Amino acid sequence: MGGSVIVTGGAGYIGSHACKALARAGFVPVTYDNLSIGNRWAVRWGPFELGDIHDSARLHDVFRAHRPVGVLHFAALALVGESVAAPSLYYRTNVAGLCCVLDVCRARDVNAFVFSSTCAVYGAPAQLPIDETTPPAPINPYGASKLMAERVLADYDAAYGLRHVALRYFNAAGADPEGEIGERRDVETHLVPLAVDALAGRRPPIRIMGEDYPTPDGTAVRDYIHVSDLAEAHVRALRHLLTGGASRVLNLGVGRGYSVREVLDAAARVAGRPVPSESAPRRPGDPPALVADPTAAQTLFGRDLAQRSSLDHIVETAWRWQNSDFYDRVFFAR
Ligand code: UDP
Repeated sequence: MGGSVIVTGGAGYIGSHACKALARAGFVPVTYDNLSIGNRWAVRWGPFELGDIHDSARLHDVFRAHRPVGVLHFAALALVGESVAAPSLYYRTNVAGLCCVLDVCRARDVNAFVFSSTCAVYGAPAQLPIDETTPPAPINPYGASKLMAERVLADYDAAYGLRHVALRYFNAAGADPEGEIGERRDVETHLVPLAVDALAGRRPPIRIMGEDYPTPDGTAVRDYIHVSDLAEAHVRALRHLLTGGASRVLNLGVGRGYSVREVLDAAARVAGRPVPSESAPRRPGDPPALVADPTAAQTLFGRDLAQRSSLDHIVETAWRWQNSDFYDRVFFAR
């Protein structure tokens, strides 16, 4: 199996790892990205097409030129706090932008669509672990926009036969184990890269946001999955669709939760010294604990999906990436 695959947002963190996984599986990843967040240097495994997901004419040109067999759609906005302050931006990008890409797929007869969704669609559920039957109840515009997007996908399937796999990510973290790419954003809010940069002295001490949660050590619990495992899941989702599989909505997590403190302990083990940290209030909108039941995805894609996702490996690959000469150059480049 092969052919071109349009990867919107392919210059971003998860998108670029997915491009590497696609290339390894024999596909040609065509990155379509406006570089508002993504990095040109992260596009290494196929052609790059500069463009915005709202630009229908440009999308048509790119689809005409590359004749894709499917689409991986990563292009989106994904910061909870920003979504609360600027919901218009979030619904326009994450819902209207999606419709624009889907309509080009319809016109070009592309019927395999892999979508980046999120565990934020669940809100703050009382029961853990979370399986796909847990009723969605987003608590911020980001989660709401992704839930709406899932509804759009279901309706497009029913009406037009455009099949999708929506992958509800838990916490993506880590970096390419071969050190070729990794996480790098101008505005960084995520625990693992901030902790590693704090260890390296590149950023101030990490702020432990909330020590009064109803969790064993008082800090918030998340399900961390290695970005390369996540990337591989996209390839398997695409194969599922290309071999005639039905639309699915699937959790992508490991099924094991770690607290903020446990993540910082893992970083300290890797570095051989403690992470500089300080106490801080809870971050608005953060649920106390999110842990996936990953059974459905593992049944469809195989249990080896979590092979790179031990916490120590996640932190170790992030540590190696953020201590590379290349990272040092790109960190200070912008
Ligand atoms: N967190 C923290 N300090 C930070 C960044 C994050 O204590 O500087 C906590 C955050 O409250 C959450 C966990 O780390 O409980 C993971 O946050 P992240 O932003 O990485 O992912 P999220 O779960 O928000 O998608």
